[in-house]
Amino acid sequence: MVTAPVSGAAVLRSVPGLAVREHEPLARHTRFSIGGPARIYAEASTPDALRQALAAAAQSGLAVNVIGGGSNLIVSDSGFDGLILRYTASRIDQPEAGLLHAEAGADLQALVDRSIDLGLANIHTMTGIPGTVGGAVYGNAGAYGHSVSETLESATFLDSGAIRTFDNAACQFAYRESIFKRRKDWIILSAAFRLPPGDAAALRTAADGILATRNQKYPPEMKCAGSIFKNLILAELPSAVRARVPASVIREGKVPSAWFLEQAGAKGLRRGGIEVASYHANLIYNTGTGASDDLQALIAELKQRVLNHFGLVLTEEVQYVG
Ligand SMILES: Cc1cc2nc3c(=O)[nH]c(=O)nc-3n(C[C@H](O)[C@H](O)[C@H](O)COP(=O)(O)OP(=O)(O)OC[C@H]3O[C@@H](n4cnc5c(N)ncnc54)[C@H](O)[C@@H]3O)c2cc1C
Repeated sequence: MVTAPVSGAAVLRSVPGLAVREHEPLARHTRFSIGGPARIYAEASTPDALRQALAAAAQSGLAVNVIGGGSNLIVSDSGFDGLILRYTASRIDQPEAGLLHAEAGADLQALVDRSIDLGLANIHTMTGIPGTVGGAVYGNAGAYGHSVSETLESATFLDSGAIRTFDNAACQFAYRESIFKRRKDWIILSAAFRLPPGDAAALRTAADGILATRNQKYPPEMKCAGSIFKNLILAELPSAVRARVPASVIREGKVPSAWFLEQAGAKGLRRGGIEVASYHANLIYNTGTGASDDLQALIAELKQRVLNHFGLVLTEEVQYVG
């Protein structure tokens, strides 16, 4: 008797704690609302489901890509010919005073809100950054003077089926960087944050002010990924470029890439349904009908313009899939 080969999807469907869909449009899972289908899309609610999903994917020869809230992703129009995996566990608790523990699938905003309610400071300025705790640790997210790396005490992740924990130093954080960006096969499961005390009412007032500013810059319905490019570290710029940068644009030792882009004429540039915001040269959004090809072509054009004007190569903060 000849038995038909069992498809990757069929194996995955048998894994407890794993919700599996085939040919899932990834546009549904990105803030850009752009991206073709994943051959298989699966949401895992436990570390064991993740582990079994990885084993089944390896057995079936499926490439794997992990996503969080999709707020920093550019997915190709052809999608992803493999398994897109999302970890959904989202519990947040306070195991001891001043320490918050969050599972990677939790919304970063839920963690921020919990910290404020408990009168804990230093992640309150990250209010309004979309996405999950896992995505924030991966990219060392931050805003308004504070970033994940300042307060993260430890990160727990899945490495080839084994659960491991790194302290802050081992995470090798730098500006929008961590070791997880270089080890895409590791899946962040949770993180613990050591936070100093603060006055809950004052933290809430500060966070509300930040949110109001952010909502003007990034209206909640805007299909975008926040900043496309990383800012540039002033000290690392060639001296001839440094001399051209006005002191007024330097913030926390960095020059916003928006400044270079603006000088290079980026504001308002358009390709298909993709546009550079007229008020912010490092913000590209989908007007509603945009395609990934146009988005990627516009990004390439912006990079070329800055290269021509300043001899600088901008680096994307956004992550590509497919
Ligand atoms: C309007 C807007 C404003 C923004 N403002 C800011 C800002 O002020 N500061 C800032 O830092 N960012 C900002 N961002 C970018 C984005 O919100 C952050 O990068 C966010 O942390 C991404 O989280 P996510 O869960 O959406 O990750 P995704 O976009 O889904 O994924 C991003 C990367 O993280 C990896 N990843 C996600 N989860 C895991 C996991 N569990 N284990 C391993 N890898 C994982 C993915 O593989 C991918 O490479 C903004 C985005 C938008 C849309």
